[in-house]
Amino acid sequence: MTIVSVPARVPAGVDRLDVLVDGQPVGDLHLRLCTACERAVIEHIRIDRHYRGRGLARRLVEAATEGRRSWLWSTTEIADNASAAGFAAAGIWPGPPQPQWCAHMRAADDLMP
Ligand SMILES: [Zn+2]
Repeated sequence: MTIVSVPARVPAGVDRLDVLVDGQPVGDLHLRLCTACERAVIEHIRIDRHYRGRGLARRLVEAATEGRRSWLWSTTEIADNASAAGFAAAGIWPGPPQPQWCAHMRAADDLMP
């Protein structure tokens, strides 16, 4: 298992973490990081159906939060499907499902091409 980081193109834009198994992408996590505010919002997480139950979502969240555990974390209202419920039940989310975007994150959307 490998996790590959695809940084945002603008500050406080959307970073992506891809999780690969045998070189194939099987899931990803989208998050916004603001170093100025030390704030982070997880906006999306997805694991291919056939790869669920292996702790990959937890590994993605761990990779996202590593070195930033003291930051203010929140998540969007993650899709109400079985896997999202499973992630929530497993206590994987680092923050409440109520995104707390900062002004920089909102500004980043205006900078996106
Ligand atoms: Zn900010």
